[in-house]
Amino acid sequence: FFISFEGIDGAGKSTHLESFQRLMQERYPDREVVMTREPGGTPLGEQLRALLLDAPMNLETEALLMFAARREHIAQVIEPALKAGKIVISDRFTDASFAYQGGGRGLSLDKLNQLERWVQGGANGLLLQPNLTILFDLPGEIAEARRSKARAPDKFEKMDLNFFEKVRQEYLRRAKEDPSRFHLVDATKTPDLIWNELSHLKFKI
Ligand code: C5P
Repeated sequence: FFISFEGIDGAGKSTHLESFQRLMQERYPDREVVMTREPGGTPLGEQLRALLLDAPMNLETEALLMFAARREHIAQVIEPALKAGKIVISDRFTDASFAYQGGGRGLSLDKLNQLERWVQGGANGLLLQPNLTILFDLPGEIAEARRSKARAPDKFEKMDLNFFEKVRQEYLRRAKEDPSRFHLVDATKTPDLIWNELSHLKFKI
């Protein structure tokens, strides 16, 4: 079973990831819970992450490196874990590429769809996708206020407000397109209320 956490920077997904992992482990004591992240998740992926977060690069290059890291992540970590019956929780997955490289930075969705098919397409013609995606939704404006209080921004975070609103809108479009996969969290709520919601979330593994 494959779960991803998504949302714009500052929406609070990181706050809940560890508790969610603990919760899953308590609920399914006989299944191993694997926690991973994108970009990253493998030694090569983490090197690509460092490059992606710091080095200035062309938008297509950025998307290709994101998907290269993802290919490695799927081959080395995600697929073997799922095959072994483990529960995989990933801090971001492909929805983030659509939201950031597509919605935010303007790469065509057609190109992203092609990359997705290439990197996540199985022999059966089906795409490898999370079974459940928890999307922390927050207006760009509120996220910006939270971010500026929290820590120094990385390359992607030094973007204007409009950027984050565009990222958000693409996340929401993806959620609308595939409502059975997504659970939307209203991230304007307090962390306590959000945790209460997440810990009562019902889904079949
Ligand atoms: O999830 P996390 O905050 O660790 O992600 C690191 C940075 O990478 C974020 O600032 C996010 O905006 C950016 N990112 C991106 N495109 C992706 C995935 C992450 O721009 N596909």
